Amino acid sequence: MATPTTITTLAALREAEAACTRCPLFRKATQVVPGEGKTKARLMLVGEQPGNDEDLTGRPFVGPAGRVLDRALEEAGIDRAEAFVTNAVKHFKFEPRGKRRLHQRPDAYEIERCRWWLDLEREIVKPALVVALGATAARSLFGRTVTVSGLRGEVRTLADGGRVLVTIHPSFLLRIEDERAKAAEFGRLVEDLKVGARFLKRAA
Ligand code: SF4
Repeated sequence: MATPTTITTLAALREAEAACTRCPLFRKATQVVPGEGKTKARLMLVGEQPGNDEDLTGRPFVGPAGRVLDRALEEAGIDRAEAFVTNAVKHFKFEPRGKRRLHQRPDAYEIERCRWWLDLEREIVKPALVVALGATAARSLFGRTVTVSGLRGEVRTLADGGRVLVTIHPSFLLRIEDERAKAAEFGRLVEDLKVGARFLKRAA
């Protein structure tokens, strides 16, 4: 496998990720789901891991959670096409249940092993701001367990100097049944993303 020093482009990164065996998740997934977007995007969005649709298409955030994210980005005045979109863990972790594949949360070991790729993405893209969508992304970026509610809505600085905004993962909204509660949480997600949009405007 290529070493970090020989991977300097997103194309080389995608190729190396496709051959990754750093944790067991590559065994059952259909394919790796690399990040996608502009090479020098100022904004990087990091989710948890690919879901069923992402695993089948090989693209991040194209399923139901991706549609929630798209709507929230639009309301926050952020153009997804200008961002780099990726996940903390690049292979789909699931439990087969009949014909369905039920999402399983990646564990600390898998997040840690896959951080190698997220670090390389950050190194190549050099975003001015990374948005951590949910606890897994935040865990990967901070290198430790953090609570989303304690950190969300404010731009923070990582040990390596990177700037990070923590918010919820859009799939959280899909699990809320009460429509008013769902709308309120969606509004909070949009407000968090607006903090990011304002930060990027100031940093321009
Ligand atoms: S989840 Fe990440 S570390 Fe594990 S095999 Fe896939 S690309 Fe490699």
